[in-house]
Amino acid sequence: MSDTLFVKFYTENPGKDRMRYALGNGFSDTHDLCKNKGDIIWVKHVNDKGATEYNDELPISKGTVYVSALFVFHLNRVNIWAKKYPNINFIVGGPAVPYTKVIGKLPSNITLTNKSVEEWFGVDNFSYKWKFEVPDFIEENNVIFTTYMLNNFCYWNKCTFCSHPGCPVEVTNRIRKNIDFEFKDIEYNGKTRVVLGTQAILQEHINNVLPNLPRKPGRQYQAFIKADKPQLKEFKKQNLNDVFRDDIKYTIGIEFPSNRMWKRMRKGYDRNTVLEFINLIVSHESKVSLSFIVGWKDITQQDVDEAERFFQELAIPCNDSISNFEMHELLITPYSKLDGQYNIVETISAGPFLVGYVPTIGDDKISLNLKYRDIILKYADQKNYRVENRHKKFFGKEVG
Ligand code: SF4
Repeated sequence: MSDTLFVKFYTENPGKDRMRYALGNGFSDTHDLCKNKGDIIWVKHVNDKGATEYNDELPISKGTVYVSALFVFHLNRVNIWAKKYPNINFIVGGPAVPYTKVIGKLPSNITLTNKSVEEWFGVDNFSYKWKFEVPDFIEENNVIFTTYMLNNFCYWNKCTFCSHPGCPVEVTNRIRKNIDFEFKDIEYNGKTRVVLGTQAILQEHINNVLPNLPRKPGRQYQAFIKADKPQLKEFKKQNLNDVFRDDIKYTIGIEFPSNRMWKRMRKGYDRNTVLEFINLIVSHESKVSLSFIVGWKDITQQDVDEAERFFQELAIPCNDSISNFEMHELLITPYSKLDGQYNIVETISAGPFLVGYVPTIGDDKISLNLKYRDIILKYADQKNYRVENRHKKFFGKEVG
């Protein structure tokens, strides 16, 4: 084995009848370049923010290890490795790096970088091939998720709760211009989900990528879209049967569906457009996943009533086209525009890295947020939508 390693984390979760493996990574995603420089190893992701020790061993004890960090937990994992392996230099990149605050002392053999792997090695972005290979330990009857990066930034970049608008450092906007659909060559006979890596799909990718995605049995694509007016207009320029096909799932962050709240959080949404967007998708063949945030300190009873009307209008045409709801509790992330605007009940960290803050909100607002949560669950249960993160604990305490 070479003394240069590229570490990629994978997540393993049981599905209904098979395992699901998420194999995305944000730093060393031009696999051809990595293979040219060293060996690639996959390490299982562990979601343990309090960890001070992991049982795993790295296959080398000196040299250079490049780590692709998707989450703050990965950064803490490197922190622990760096102490255990003082003769290894750890170069850490990926989406977790620029948006994370270091609140403790890092070992001197860790370098955090905002560069892409190509910039690190002094070549043009995307000048090497994707050349993703499914790791040997995954058997063919499972489901794999892999990410094909299209771009690494959000064209909107305004939402107050999002950590990205507050990014304190310069990060190069990396955009894939020459799309050659390399994922058509993935050698895997199980189910494959190709996530089109982008925070919100760009208009040029709506035009050039979506209508041309190669079809393959067992293959599904996923894309994040912003359900706003300009994007809706762009989708409508396409043949709708090409962009809303049965092998594409769209994920839309709804957060809180009232016009007043969308304005406050600078989401750039309005009710009629969002409903038209979703109803247009589901009146064709595509599936939709919707995500919601609970925990706002500034919602009113009128907002909650408007949210309920939104679900009423959504529920009628959608039927089984909505694949799932995701429910999140508002977490104030470092550098977001909400940082400093909420009192804090809990600070969450992973080793020397800050994850975010759980905000304190008044009892009257807690009760409104719980009404909102119950509305989400009610409509999900009525229609049999799966709800991810069906939390019981909100606002730092058990609420039943
Ligand atoms: S929440 Fe999504 S749409 Fe809003 S700024 Fe962040 S990435 Fe962009």
